[in-house]
Amino acid sequence: MLYDVAVIGAGPAGLLCARDAARRGLRVALIDSHEEPGVKLAIAGGGKGNITNRILAENRYVGSDTGILRSALKVFSCDDALALMRELALPWEERDFGQIFGLKPASFMADRLAVQCDDAGVDFYLGRTAKNITRPDAEGEISGPAFGRSGAQTYFSLFAGQEKITARQLVIAAGSPACPQLGANDQLARLAASWGHDIVPFQPVLVPLVMPENWALSGLEGISLNVRLGLKAGNDIRWPDPEGIRSLLFTHRGVSGPAVLVVSCWWKPGEELVIDFLPELPILELLNEKENGKLIVRNLLARRLPARLADALCPEDLARRKVAELGKKDRLRLADIVHRFCVLPAGTEGLRRAEAAAGGVSLASLSRKLESLHVPGLFFCGEIVDIAGLLGGYNIHWAFASGAMVAKGLKKGE
Ligand SMILES: Cc1cc2nc3c(=O)[nH]c(=O)nc-3n(C[C@H](O)[C@H](O)[C@H](O)COP(=O)(O)OP(=O)(O)OC[C@H]3O[C@@H](n4cnc5c(N)ncnc54)[C@H](O)[C@@H]3O)c2cc1C
Repeated sequence: MLYDVAVIGAGPAGLLCARDAARRGLRVALIDSHEEPGVKLAIAGGGKGNITNRILAENRYVGSDTGILRSALKVFSCDDALALMRELALPWEERDFGQIFGLKPASFMADRLAVQCDDAGVDFYLGRTAKNITRPDAEGEISGPAFGRSGAQTYFSLFAGQEKITARQLVIAAGSPACPQLGANDQLARLAASWGHDIVPFQPVLVPLVMPENWALSGLEGISLNVRLGLKAGNDIRWPDPEGIRSLLFTHRGVSGPAVLVVSCWWKPGEELVIDFLPELPILELLNEKENGKLIVRNLLARRLPARLADALCPEDLARRKVAELGKKDRLRLADIVHRFCVLPAGTEGLRRAEAAAGGVSLASLSRKLESLHVPGLFFCGEIVDIAGLLGGYNIHWAFASGAMVAKGLKKGE
């Protein structure tokens, strides 16, 4: 069977791409190692799936060329994602920071998309890993529809289990190596590298940070509070999260929670994490308020912060002194501790605990339609492309938007 397109990966990117291409009348094969489509989609958002976001903007993404978002959002906007959810009969609710969650298990969305693919005529090859993938200019034996008269292959070919699949175009929607316990890996990114594409090394993002064993705030696990997080390299501090304030959770090994997951998208080994524990209340103002003058410093902090955190933060020599007694130097020292608490993380919890991976096929190797600049007819979409979104439905949205964009650029055979 000669297909117009073979899509490797039945995650949100591959499913939407396959469905849209088949609806345009293309003959489509969709291949996935798992027996079920959308295995990662099914566990997204704690099983509910944070599908998209009201605030879709370039600064919600990191990657080699976030400008691609502008093109992708023209093809598939937040309204398009909501229309998709309506079409799939998936009710949704909007939560803080513009996050849109489905009101049924996220597996429902994967199942319904698979039904739509089926209805559109997509041939599924599930439970089969795509192997021995070759491109049109590769040398091959001269037989069957995969090969041209010249002796060189005319089409892409691959094996899905025992089945040989040939296709005029190939879409790689194989995701990232985040969550290897689900079988995620970087094999197809390595194949892309061997075909001449620039690959940005994968890095876990949306991942908790691990702290050195005896760091000053160890033993606070379970405490959570709203903070603003910055990153410090040399003397420069930057505050990259466009939302500013989110919650942080102390864990046994370090810190987690939305604020940390988001900042992990930018954190690089060797950079210090800067924590502003009172992002909306300058401590210097509190220290200057007359009615606080009689309080001891520890109690002033404990009025605004969880008591155990206040104890851990407050320097011993200041803890029992009255606020009114503090000189300028001590006030500034306290302000630094509360608003610029610096710690050098030991690392991240790694790909096993990451919700996504930054890195992948560089946009420098792809056209604005996500077609390879090295192998005509080869496209990439979803998380395998070097674009990663912050927490908030941005990754699934990118998967859908890039899948829709690729589907538009595919050509129908004679
Ligand atoms: C725990 C968790 C929670 C998350 N929650 C959210 C959330 O709420 N909102 C959000 O926006 N994002 C979330 N994400 C991220 C989001 O799920 C992914 O970004 C998204 O699924 C990527 O879609 P994709 O189609 O590119 O790849 P994937 O969904 O990873 O799909 C790729 C598919 O390709 C298949 N594949 C790979 N190689 C081969 C091969 N050689 N042959 C055959 N098949 C192959 C894999 O089996 C896989 O099914 C979460 C991720 C995790 C791990």
